[in-house]
Amino acid sequence: MGRVYQRVLLKLSGEALMGELAYGIDPMVVQQIAQQVAEVIGDGTELAIVVGGGNIFRGVKGSASGMDRATADYIGMIATVMNAMTLQDSLERMGIPTRVQTAIAMQEVAEPYIRRRAIRHLEKKRVVIFGAGSGNPFFTTDTTAALRAAEINAEVIFKATKVDGVYDSDPHVNPDAKRYESLTYGHVLTNELRVMDSTAIALCKENDIPIVVFDISVPGNIRRAVMGEKVGTTVGGFCEIT
Ligand code: UDP
Repeated sequence: MGRVYQRVLLKLSGEALMGELAYGIDPMVVQQIAQQVAEVIGDGTELAIVVGGGNIFRGVKGSASGMDRATADYIGMIATVMNAMTLQDSLERMGIPTRVQTAIAMQEVAEPYIRRRAIRHLEKKRVVIFGAGSGNPFFTTDTTAALRAAEINAEVIFKATKVDGVYDSDPHVNPDAKRYESLTYGHVLTNELRVMDSTAIALCKENDIPIVVFDISVPGNIRRAVMGEKVGTTVGGFCEIT
């Protein structure tokens, strides 16, 4: 079976880098993800990554403890740059060329976000890691993933999580929870299913970008998803439950 997707936007939450830790980055987990990225880059897939920062700092949490929300969000965005650079280091040690582009200028450590330049890097098979979210407070890295995917003409968003798809209720609480094979954007929005936040889903809907939700901790899953194998739940088609 051949590759289904040529240009992919991978959304990695901060939590995905945390593994079993309560905070921060687990180097072994990052290495495992880098290994999966290496597998698809070797096939000629173009991959851009939007990385979150929830393993270090979340604006909402900061503002709940009294911080100014916008300031807290900027701190959250800066946290994502730490994750982006960690991921870059891991990928480059595997011989994969990468570029980090940030939405908040930090030119000593990364390129500024320049859309056309990002596309050029992808064409040259460099992994582009987008840091600092969208550069705007009151947004999330999920929304950033939808935005960047539309900007770089990615065919699909891979939303890497710690579960194997989207369920109709929490499988940790309800043993009868059912997993969706596929879902419409509308179903996600009206049932407030926790796939990505509603701004991100709306942006994907408007731009017809499907989202594949899958468990990143299973080795080889990124490659399986690139090959079009059923690895989790696809949002953007019709509703189907297993
Ligand atoms: N953030 C922001 N604007 C953006 C993206 C992120 O203000 O465009 C801030 C926000 O405070 C958020 C934090 O950065 O809580 C970390 O991002 P996110 O929570 O999306 O990370 P994830 O949940 O994917 O780990």
